[in-house]
Amino acid sequence: MAVDRFGRNIHYLRISLTDHCNLRCIYCMPEDQTFRPSADLLQDDEILRLTRLFASLGFDKIRLTGGEPTVRANVVKIVRGIASTPGIRSLSMTTNGILLSQLAQPLKEAGLQRVNISIDTLDPEKFRRLTRWGKLQQVWDGILAAERVGLAPIKLNAVIVKGYNEDDVIDLAALTIERPWQMRYIEMMPFAGVTDIQTKQVVTAADIQKRIESEFGPLEVSGKYDGEARIFRIRGAKGELGFISSVSVPFCSACTRARLTADGVLRMCLLREKEIDLLTPMRDGASDEELRRLVLDGVWNKPWGHGLEEGLIPLNRAMNQIGG
Ligand code: SAM
Ligand code: SF4
Repeated sequence: MAVDRFGRNIHYLRISLTDHCNLRCIYCMPEDQTFRPSADLLQDDEILRLTRLFASLGFDKIRLTGGEPTVRANVVKIVRGIASTPGIRSLSMTTNGILLSQLAQPLKEAGLQRVNISIDTLDPEKFRRLTRWGKLQQVWDGILAAERVGLAPIKLNAVIVKGYNEDDVIDLAALTIERPWQMRYIEMMPFAGVTDIQTKQVVTAADIQKRIESEFGPLEVSGKYDGEARIFRIRGAKGELGFISSVSVPFCSACTRARLTADGVLRMCLLREKEIDLLTPMRDGASDEELRRLVLDGVWNKPWGHGLEEGLIPLNRAMNQIGG
């Protein structure tokens, strides 16, 4: 078991498969973002070796992310390898959904259990503006494909940005009335690349909830958390609403996560710059035992929480280079 010095059991690993993406969301990266060459990224066998190593330390839950994980070459093969790793009991993916129409079925067959799909608005023009060129219909088709093949329960993520989609929270919430989906609203967090937008155009979870309640009345409180999301329900709805208030009400005390970036560094807090390089020692011939020690040291020294309140913004990477 991997435990940090505050007694938190760290057993949830988010693996970024690539920093590349087929969209350029305005809250994630600049339009002219450059990406790392493939040789600098973890290779397929390196990802699987590290998966086995983390599993041997008690990590049992993995989420694949990016960049956009579905643009990674061999994504289906990688999913199959991770899904068949002894000790891994939960395997999910966060995706923009653009390629899910084609990939939902093979990913499900390879052992992927669930997907979170990002959709910030139901208005095609606003979607294009937020993603710089994305076509909403492709995401919608991807959501339906994921549901059809049983990548369920379907969870949808929306980052809310002042001046872009704060009015759209209502249409998104309405999706849950007739569908058993979970619609999750994420407060925007600041990183490198587009820090200005990320700090100046935040809409808080409390504000989002107020907007939704002005349309649908008071939300039913479920009292439960799903990961970092506080869960609510519109009265009588089949689905749920989740609020992820990482900035205004952090959930650090309950954090069980570590992140492995596409270029092979371990990041123990999304919002702290500290990183532990695993790729270089691995390519220099480190043994599993040596790598295990590096991981356990990293876990032990996991920061208690982020420093946003003190004005500490992590500027060494853009969001797509970490994997949300
Ligand atoms: N490309 C995939 C996607 O968009 O779902 C996976 C990677 S993306 C970096 C993971 C999640 O982070 C997405 O739900 C995205 O909306 C969210 N995200 C991106 N930039 C963010 C920011 N500045 N603050 C909060 N969430 C952000
Ligand atoms: Fe790509 Fe996801 Fe970032 Fe949007 S949020 S640019 S889809 S990595």
